[in-house]
Amino acid sequence: MSKPLSDHDRRKQISVRGLAGIENVAELKQNFNRHLHFTLVKDRNVATKRDYYFALAHTVREHLIGRWIRTQQHYYEKDPKRVYYISLEFYMGRTLQNTMVNLALENACDEATYQLGLDMEELEDMEEDAGLGNGGLGRLVEEADDWLRYGNPWEKARPEYMRPVHFYGRTEHHPDGVKWVDTQVVLALPYDTPVPGYRNNVVNTMRLWSAKAPCEFNLKDFNVGGYIQAVLDRNLAENISRVLYPNDNFFEGKELRLKQEYFVVSATLQDIIRRFKVSKFGSREIARTDFSKLPDKVAIQLNDTHPAMAIPELMRVLVDEEKLDWDKAWDICVRTCAYTNHTVLPEALERWPVDLFAHLLPRHLEIVYEINRRHLERVAAKYPGDVDRLRRMSLIEEGGQKRINMAHLCIVGSHAVNGVAQIHSDILKATVFKDFYEMEPHKFQNKTNGITPRRWLVMCNPGLAEVIAERIGEDFIRDLDQLQSLRNYVNDEAFIRDIAKVKQENKLKFAVHLEEHYKVKINPNSMFDIQVKRIHEYKRQLLNCLHIITYYNRIKKEPNKQWTPRTVMIGGKAAPGYHTAKMIIRLITAIGEVVNNDPVVGDRLKVIFLENYRVTLAEKAIPAADLSEQISTAGTEASGTGNMKFMLNGALTIGTMDGANVEMAEEAGEDNLFIFGMRVDDVDALDMKGYHAEEYYNRLPELKQAIDQIAGGFFSPKQPDLFKEIVNMLMHHDRFKVFADYEDYIKCQEKVNALYKNPKEWTKKVIYNIAGCGKFSSDRTIAQYAREIWGMEPTLEKLPAPDDKQ
Ligand SMILES: *Cc1c(COP(=O)(O)O)cnc(C)c1O
Repeated sequence: MSKPLSDHDRRKQISVRGLAGIENVAELKQNFNRHLHFTLVKDRNVATKRDYYFALAHTVREHLIGRWIRTQQHYYEKDPKRVYYISLEFYMGRTLQNTMVNLALENACDEATYQLGLDMEELEDMEEDAGLGNGGLGRLVEEADDWLRYGNPWEKARPEYMRPVHFYGRTEHHPDGVKWVDTQVVLALPYDTPVPGYRNNVVNTMRLWSAKAPCEFNLKDFNVGGYIQAVLDRNLAENISRVLYPNDNFFEGKELRLKQEYFVVSATLQDIIRRFKVSKFGSREIARTDFSKLPDKVAIQLNDTHPAMAIPELMRVLVDEEKLDWDKAWDICVRTCAYTNHTVLPEALERWPVDLFAHLLPRHLEIVYEINRRHLERVAAKYPGDVDRLRRMSLIEEGGQKRINMAHLCIVGSHAVNGVAQIHSDILKATVFKDFYEMEPHKFQNKTNGITPRRWLVMCNPGLAEVIAERIGEDFIRDLDQLQSLRNYVNDEAFIRDIAKVKQENKLKFAVHLEEHYKVKINPNSMFDIQVKRIHEYKRQLLNCLHIITYYNRIKKEPNKQWTPRTVMIGGKAAPGYHTAKMIIRLITAIGEVVNNDPVVGDRLKVIFLENYRVTLAEKAIPAADLSEQISTAGTEASGTGNMKFMLNGALTIGTMDGANVEMAEEAGEDNLFIFGMRVDDVDALDMKGYHAEEYYNRLPELKQAIDQIAGGFFSPKQPDLFKEIVNMLMHHDRFKVFADYEDYIKCQEKVNALYKNPKEWTKKVIYNIAGCGKFSSDRTIAQYAREIWGMEPTLEKLPAPDDKQ
């Protein structure tokens, strides 16, 4: 295999990476050497690649500092409304390249490191992904994701802003209000990470909270000689921020998780209230804090129900501590908070047992009961005598174990509720939140998800960004709608050639990566057919498996036919406790062992499981994809964002009418995607009629053959029963109706093969897809949240550049 163009040479040709000013390069080299010496305490004789990465990171970080400080000063002086986005997960990926791109330093740094005899991309590869997404655990081989092991140059601890967070205890009701007493305290220590804007000198803050035991923690035990136990208990308290629950779309009602949720909420709200109090509407300019202005100055966006405790916590602060009356506090709370729903899967919805709540957060339980009492009063007033509706809409689910429905709490306590794609928002109104929509239709909105074109195009696919910029300029990076004008180039032979060439280069590069890291050889001329996402039954990696097996059987049956060569790659983490998901991974690798070693098949079909799927791997795989698999059962994927990343990087989509796929088809033209399978209405109709997998199994001989092979140990000859459970699930209790879409999926894949044989027509569809990507920029998404939920006007205003030497 020929080695692709050297990264340094390739990058130099790319103008979107910022120009390498000569004086800038000299200064960068100087700073790099200074950091290697003074920060890392190394010289060039003993420095490792990781040391060089850290030296570069510190060098680049210095360019953030002035902008970060000045942005915060600007906010303090201007005192604009602030958005607090509270989330228990952020899929950040790496920071170094993102910072260089957004500060236009990338080419200068590349030149500086090159002159120092280093390869920048090798250094970048030393950075660990921030383990803040729920994909930290759950690799094929379970390994702790100790991403902070070597230190994190991007964060700044702020011990001066440490806050106490209370747990347990009991309530005392006095004439002058309620007191929450005898609590246990854990300290919340903030860590700030800079979030730079794209070439606008703005640097916002992501504030993470770490749990610290207070000095006096368990001093009582300490005094009576329980020294060892006291030290161990400190660890217990600090466990709150030690791990992130790696479930995807699954609620696990563990006390530690509820502690985490309240911990982040309590710390953040203290932060918000403190900052509000020193702002203009707080005591800075008027004598007493006027909380009625809080919704004008603060928007709190709840990312799913995980931070739902913000609602009762804000009520507790306003009523118990700030002594506002309930009605006034409630009005402030509702006008400040908004809730984004991310799933309709019932097993994912948070429903906390009341007992657990009563023990951990007794005052909050009282507040939730009072919120519910008043809420049900309003429901009863609107729907007199409708007791079943009252039961359905209650925040408290009765029967068996009493539970708090956190989604209901969020809807009642927010002024806006949104889904993350149009079809998903419509489903919310028609099904799970129907009663709430009928009562308060004005609250319900849609905000279709988006992705950042900086990371997901400029950073990960500079070749494509450059080919586009050569035709339409660079402004599309800030204003992705401008990609529309690429429609003028669908018949431009040179453009078609350039697009195809970039894809081929990306495929070659990814093939080299796979060979180096996974010791697998793949045919770079085959179609790269990729499904990367969390492993979950609803995402239907099993449907993909059935296509692979069917294609394999067809090749075996007619080995001399001209089959379109495919390399099918499936990647994603399974939650550690999700047995079926683990078995799906096992099946993918088992199919690979048989298919990849069959000489009759050769390199016409290969099956690879991509291990340790994370943002950094996505950035390598997605630019190399020809075909993007987005094949969830209609009505189950809220939006998806992987689908958008592939589309922007010049892959064609094979997908169901689910999540944002629907809008992708709208934007690119339905003919330019491979849409197949049941629509939501068809799924509902099938549910009414009853889904019987064996009907499809009996009717479709190739499906029967594939299932019989899996069940009979064809892919697991040493353990013939290995996949019995999977087959049993597919045949008898498949909630996601894999077989019902099998026939149409296979036919659709045949169309994919046929088009792939015609590279020019394929690439034309790719161009229509890229041209239709404008809507899927997170810039559009965030601007809509700003205008339609937060009551703010987004601005493209730039701040003045700071003098970095100060
Ligand atoms: C974008 C992304 C996802 C989301 O993928 P979907 O296909 O939308 O489920 C998951 N994991 C990583 C690492 C991603 O980059």
